[in-house]
Amino acid sequence: MMTHVVRTERISPSIVRVTLAGLEDLDVRGYDHWCRLFFTREGQDVLELPTSTTELGWYLQYLATPKTRRPWVRAYTVRDARPEAGEVDIDFVIHGEQDGSIGPAARFALEARSGDRVGFLDQGLAFTPDHPHDWTLLIGDETAMPAVAGICRSLPRDARGVAIIEIPTAGDRQELSAPAGMEITWIHRDESSQTAARPGELALRALAAAALPDGEVHAHVIGESALATGARRHLVQERDVPKRNVDFVGYWRHGRAATG
Ligand SMILES: Cc1cc2nc3c(=O)[nH]c(=O)nc-3n(C[C@H](O)[C@H](O)[C@H](O)COP(=O)(O)OP(=O)(O)OC[C@H]3O[C@@H](n4cnc5c(N)ncnc54)[C@H](O)[C@@H]3O)c2cc1C
Repeated sequence: MMTHVVRTERISPSIVRVTLAGLEDLDVRGYDHWCRLFFTREGQDVLELPTSTTELGWYLQYLATPKTRRPWVRAYTVRDARPEAGEVDIDFVIHGEQDGSIGPAARFALEARSGDRVGFLDQGLAFTPDHPHDWTLLIGDETAMPAVAGICRSLPRDARGVAIIEIPTAGDRQELSAPAGMEITWIHRDESSQTAARPGELALRALAAAALPDGEVHAHVIGESALATGARRHLVQERDVPKRNVDFVGYWRHGRAATG
């Protein structure tokens, strides 16, 4: 779907919220509803979007588009949606401003202006537990904050669980609407006495030290790739959690740009 930017706002030191409109037909699903966003590269006047919306179809079309005409494409989570206005908010983490490693998506969020066109490909939910469980475990870094916020807001009000969220600074913390039985731990990287080489390391250490509830868990571990794989390894090897109870998604990889 072709959308356009309505407004942008730097809502906290590390996050720019971009509001997109034109999504009246979006089936808003809550939880960690995610999408692929397409935007133009420097020098491109036309935003050329794949017409297929199937998992493989859009990508084959994308690869078949000559490189000079291919847009950037990156994965993001719907932070909020107002279906009556056809609007969604996307929270972009702004990274690498100081050392110049900023990526095209973060730069887009910084420079976006009202009216800029953005392609939106609905990707549905990744949080889809398909086994009985007593409680929910969410682990993530700042890129996972929209997903954790959406899952907490969508869970049944009697859900129980634990969420560990590592963010750059206390100023990036967001008010979450979560069931009373969700215990939320925030880790602010800049206030930590422990040194961390990369985002996600402190969340991993907090998980290793955490006293977790008894009973069958559904764990959803998301964020920097070493956090996602490390948390899964810890849960399976050290806590005897069955593999099928742990969903993990590497949202980004330290030192490596996303493809597309
Ligand atoms: C399902 C899914 C949902 C996601 N939802 C969100 C979301 O709601 N908000 C969000 O901000 N991100 C989200 N992400 C992560 C986002 O897609 C990546 O961070 C993406 O790489 C950013 O693109 P870029 O063009 O800015 O940087 P890229 O061009 O991909 O990377 C350039 C450089 O920046 C580094 N880098 C990329 N992201 C970060 C980061 N966050 N912090 C530090 N360094 C980084 C890379 O390692 C690389 O060295 C999601 C990812 C997935 C798979």
